[in-house]
Amino acid sequence: MADHKVICWDCGAEVDDPYVNTCPKCNGLLTVKMDLEPVKEMRPQDLRKEKIGVWRYAPFMPVDPSHKVSIQEGGTPLYRTDGLAKEVGVSEVHVKFEGLNPTGSFKDRGMTIGVSHAKELGAKVVGCASTGNTSASLAAYAAKANIKCAVFLPSGKVAAGKLAQALFYGAKVLSVDGNFDDALNLALKMADEKKIYLLNSINPYRPEGQKSVLFEIMDQLNYDVPDRIILPVGNAANIWAVYKAIQELKEVGWIDKVPMLTGIQAEGSAPVAKAFSAGKKDFIPENKPETIATAIRIGNPISGRKALHAIYDTGGFSTTVTDEEIITAQRLLGRMEGVCVEPASAASVAGLRKLLSEGVIDRSERVVCICTGNGLKDPDIIMENSPSPVPCKNSVEDVERILGS
Ligand SMILES: *Cc1c(COP(=O)(O)O)cnc(C)c1O
Ligand SMILES: [Zn+2]
Repeated sequence: MADHKVICWDCGAEVDDPYVNTCPKCNGLLTVKMDLEPVKEMRPQDLRKEKIGVWRYAPFMPVDPSHKVSIQEGGTPLYRTDGLAKEVGVSEVHVKFEGLNPTGSFKDRGMTIGVSHAKELGAKVVGCASTGNTSASLAAYAAKANIKCAVFLPSGKVAAGKLAQALFYGAKVLSVDGNFDDALNLALKMADEKKIYLLNSINPYRPEGQKSVLFEIMDQLNYDVPDRIILPVGNAANIWAVYKAIQELKEVGWIDKVPMLTGIQAEGSAPVAKAFSAGKKDFIPENKPETIATAIRIGNPISGRKALHAIYDTGGFSTTVTDEEIITAQRLLGRMEGVCVEPASAASVAGLRKLLSEGVIDRSERVVCICTGNGLKDPDIIMENSPSPVPCKNSVEDVERILGS
């Protein structure tokens, strides 16, 4: 573990109380400041003694590995997808398939660090609000750590697989009257009264674990930095985590070029993309976010300001895609690359397509799309957008008739 402190991202004040989620002085967002001096003595190869995954990058993490709560998160494949690249018309695309984490989304990267830290603190109850994946992940890590877990879900709007997971791992699942933003406000109230240790991404330890997706991408590309990294943006912590990882690799001298961070939102739920189009540093929350991509159906992104900073500072971009474009991209990944992602994850590929056609992304670029979650999380969407199974008699002739048609 590297030495670190929690500071306010807005005013720089140091924060000691591990149970506060915003700056006691200015109500600003918190972040972790790592002491990376020891890492400056190391080379990337030195880390390769550990197998690839979040804990390979322990020198960049604010939790001591002796408190590790792990179910082998990270180490996901980075596919070179030449078929997809040709289809959309760009020189090189890689897909980082985060759906192959233990609970099927990148949230596991943040949770292994967040729950390890909760255990370090001796927290009795952990909790989070979630559109689904955060709760599935927290429930699994709380089970592994043997800590009580409460998850706050918006009623009726959670994909079937995600809800099943939270229930399965034994969390107390609360179905809150309202949308994600309402569920988060309730969880924040519980945390303010110190009744739960909150593990939403407002908790600065979560993004620390999520930095590992960027460390892995660089490792897998042998530190040949890509021109651009595209990812979906919901509550906006992941793009911030990727940005923070880039800054830290620069600080220790392992990279000198910075990929353009490109955040994609769904058209009906796009406060960050709209702020970017207007050239603003802050966003206007949306009251009624709507999209089939439930993991990014968030109107008031907690880390929205950090995301905008990440995008501007890397010369990146932000735009929206329609639900239809998302479904088309999801299908393309399945039919061309054998990769099954949930709708929010397909937003990155939908965004790549759109920005190529608009000339924002140059066709000579080397691009990485982060595909955040597994398609099996949301089977209803797949069934709605796929042909029905074909009724078939128990006979070879009938099979031939069907295959021939
Ligand atoms: C959480 C999540 C997102 C959004 O990530 P943020 O950090 O909230 O921007 C995107 N896709 C999937 C599958 C997710 O679970
Ligand atoms: Zn402050």
